[in-house]
Amino acid sequence: MRAKLVAGNWKMNGSLAGNQALLNAALPALASVRGADFAVCVPFPYLAQVQQALRGQKVALGAQDVCQFEGGAYTGGVSAAMVAEFGCRYAIVGHSERRSVFGDTDEVVAEKFAAVMQHGMTPILCVGETLAEREGGVTETVVARQLEAIVKRSGIAALGKSVIAYEPVWAIGTGRTATPEQAQAVHAYLRTRVAAVDPRLADQVPILYGGSVKAGNAAQLFAMADVDGGLIGGASLVADEFIAICRAAAGAKDKVTI
Ligand code: PEP
Repeated sequence: MRAKLVAGNWKMNGSLAGNQALLNAALPALASVRGADFAVCVPFPYLAQVQQALRGQKVALGAQDVCQFEGGAYTGGVSAAMVAEFGCRYAIVGHSERRSVFGDTDEVVAEKFAAVMQHGMTPILCVGETLAEREGGVTETVVARQLEAIVKRSGIAALGKSVIAYEPVWAIGTGRTATPEQAQAVHAYLRTRVAAVDPRLADQVPILYGGSVKAGNAAQLFAMADVDGGLIGGASLVADEFIAICRAAAGAKDKVTI
C-alpha cells in the first residue's frame, strides 16, 4: 500500500515571526500523528529558518520551485543544488501558478524536474487542467501531455522517484474543490497512463490531490483508491486546518474505487 503524504505549499506567504508561530502550533500536534508523511514547501528565504525548526521532527522540508539551470548568469534564479543544501527532500515543479504567471512550459517543467532529481530530491510534479479545458472535455489530454513531457525528458523510471500532484486549476485557491469522484477519475487515469508502460511503477507512484483541500473535505478525498494524500495551499497556513488534514490522511482507511 502507498503511504499517504500531505505537503503544505505556503506559496508567497510568511514572515520570520509568522512562520515560527505556525510551526510552534503545528509541529507538537503532528509529532504524534502516525500513518502518513508530512512536508512543508516554503519560500526560498525561509528555507534556513524552517530547516532549523524541523530538526528532529517528522515533517520534511520542500521548496516550491527551482531554476531549470545549474548555475551562472540567471539573476534571481535559485538552483536545485542550492535548495538541496538546505535539506529539502521535495521540490514542487510545474505548479499552475508557475505555469500561468511565470510562463513555465511543459519543457521547462521537465528540465526543472530533472534538476530536482539530479540533486537527490523528490520532485512533486503538478499537473492539471483549466476550467475551460475541463469544460472542453480535454482534461485527460492535458494531464497526459504534462506527464509525457517528463517521461520524454527523464524516462518512465524517473516517475517512480517522484510524486505527482493532480491540481485542477479551477480548484486552486478558489474554494471550489473537485469532488472525490472527479479527483479519483483523473488520478486513476494518470495511474493507467503510467501502468501502460510499467505496471509495477504505476502501483508505487504517489498521486496527491490539490485544490481547496480543507479539514472538512480531506477525509472524503483521501478515502479514494488512487488519492494518496494532498498538496495543500491556503489551508496549510492555518495550523488547526493543516493538522486536521494531516490527521485525515493518517486515518484514511481507503479504498473507494469508482
Ligand atoms: C496549491 O497551491 O497547490 C493549492 C492546492 O492551493 P489551495 O489549497 O489553496 O487551493
